[in-house]
Amino acid sequence: MIQTLEYLYVGNRYLSEVEQLTPRGVDFVAVRSVYEAIFRLNKEQVQGILVELPEISGDFGRALKALRGAAGRKRLLILMSEEEAEAQRPLGIFDHEEMLACPFYPNELWKRLKHPQAPAERHALARLGSEAERLSALIDDSRMLNRLTSDLAKLAEKYVDRVRSRVRAAKVSLFLREPGQREMRIVHATGLDPEIVEKARITPGEGVAGRMVSERRSMLVQEAGADGPASGRRYQAGSYMIVPQLWQGEAMGVLCVAERMRPGPFRESDLAYLEAFSESAAQTFHNALLFRTADELATIDELTGLFNRRYFNRVLPQEIERARRYKHDLTLAMLDVDHFKVYNDTNGHQAGDRVLRKIARILQESFRDADIVVRYGGEEFVVIMPETTRLPGNGVDFVDRARRLVEEADIRYNAPGAPTRVTVSGGVASFPSQAQNAQELVRRADDAQFKAKRAGRNRILGA
Ligand code: GH3
Ligand code: MG
Ligand code: MG
Repeated sequence: MIQTLEYLYVGNRYLSEVEQLTPRGVDFVAVRSVYEAIFRLNKEQVQGILVELPEISGDFGRALKALRGAAGRKRLLILMSEEEAEAQRPLGIFDHEEMLACPFYPNELWKRLKHPQAPAERHALARLGSEAERLSALIDDSRMLNRLTSDLAKLAEKYVDRVRSRVRAAKVSLFLREPGQREMRIVHATGLDPEIVEKARITPGEGVAGRMVSERRSMLVQEAGADGPASGRRYQAGSYMIVPQLWQGEAMGVLCVAERMRPGPFRESDLAYLEAFSESAAQTFHNALLFRTADELATIDELTGLFNRRYFNRVLPQEIERARRYKHDLTLAMLDVDHFKVYNDTNGHQAGDRVLRKIARILQESFRDADIVVRYGGEEFVVIMPETTRLPGNGVDFVDRARRLVEEADIRYNAPGAPTRVTVSGGVASFPSQAQNAQELVRRADDAQFKAKRAGRNRILGA
């Protein structure tokens, strides 16, 4: 059985970190003030006290002195400080006391509790210890990214998230450059307005970030802005970091980090961490970018040369979003060749393939350039018509013209008992009047197509 050790914690900022030690048998009892800690010390058997240092003031100095008296030399007193410099500041720390630089990794605290250091070694080890902690965190983070491999969106999200929590920043954005492009765009961001995320661009050589890209150099700005912590704001607005994401000496992206969620600016060690993390992530990001390009190329249907279903699945939600934003209508048609199984059975599969190619050509010629004609599967086609309503003279009529063209192409079955020529049936539905999203739009068009089949085929019906 693990013996539970009990400590008092004067503070509240690092509750989640200290709680991570509970499974290891260390319980922290959070108390509100040094005086409450003293009061509890008289009553309970506690191993030690963790104290979050506030702004040092005369009052706190007196309280600390009282706490030291009450704690005695047998109990460990750990003073937590946000300021790295404080670790060197002569605070009058006693032999049995420890300084803990914040933010800290739970494991670092764990080690301090298990092996309190002799004073002469303390500072050197504290520095070394936090280096080792950072290194082990870095290895963890890099492994985590590698497991995600080729999904760029997910990769970017996890990366940004990890950076945010490691350096405790409110705003993190990752810009990447698509192969062959000059500008960089945000692939994932946290803490930013969606409109900014959409519009933000970094061009090499332009602006601060653009300059860092050209010079392949990272940057840490520490001075607090006018709305820094002095104004009572929680975030350190004036401090930020810019870290180009280098791969084989080229910048393929930029990481921008701002608004430290703790008093004081970002530190050199934060920047060092980001540089190391981005270096280890570079190959993974490079692969994901390449994979995405290949993925994008694989959007064409081999038989017909039309877009394939994979492309459709990606582009329809985007088109709907665009229609929503600009308050346009968008119309979707689904077309299915009538009795095509019979055609294959009587004329052979290869003849069937030729018919599919022919229909594809007719559709492509019939619709406007702005329309997206897709081979949805087998003998099924869909057409996305942006800026098209379902009103007469619009959606259904466009599709019906295509239907007529197929019929007029007079592709013969040449078999007794079979239909005379190849025809298509279709259903048409419009956003936003008949559907609110991509899924619903496809369903409505599909339902209408089903009705067209039941009504005798070779016709186009609206939803
Ligand atoms: P319906 O009028 O109800 O649509 O009848 P149908 O025979 O067209 O419908 P069904 O979905 O039962 O059959 C579709 C047929 O399309 C089955 C298959 O023989 C044919 N088909 C699907 N993909 C291809 C293809 O790539 N090449 C060829 N030649 N035929 C295909
Ligand atoms: Mg079918
Ligand atoms: Mg069919």
